[in-house]
Amino acid sequence: MAMSMQAQLSVFKYLVTQKMKGVEKYPLVMMLEPLFACNLECAGCGKIQYPTDILRKRMTPQEVFDAVEECGAPIVSIAGGEPSSTPRSSRSSTA
Ligand code: SF4
Repeated sequence: MAMSMQAQLSVFKYLVTQKMKGVEKYPLVMMLEPLFACNLECAGCGKIQYPTDILRKRMTPQEVFDAVEECGAPIVSIAGGEPSSTPRSSRSSTA
């Protein structure tokens, strides 16, 4: 996936800042799964076999924002099926 020039500049600024601070290890990409459920059934993935109460677990928008803030990575990848498949998640992605 191509990144916009603005996104590239943000990542570059983040990397330079970490370097100038002397930070050796830092997060670059946060893999976030706000929903545990997934609407796909990829070969080799056992997620679909979890009990329903586990599959229904999901983060609140505030938990998502707090996790992103705490991590500090300049790139957030939202993984796992279709994260915007619920109305609550759709709202959080537009905030
Ligand atoms: S998208 Fe990810 S979580 Fe969903 S079935 Fe495929 S591997 Fe599993």
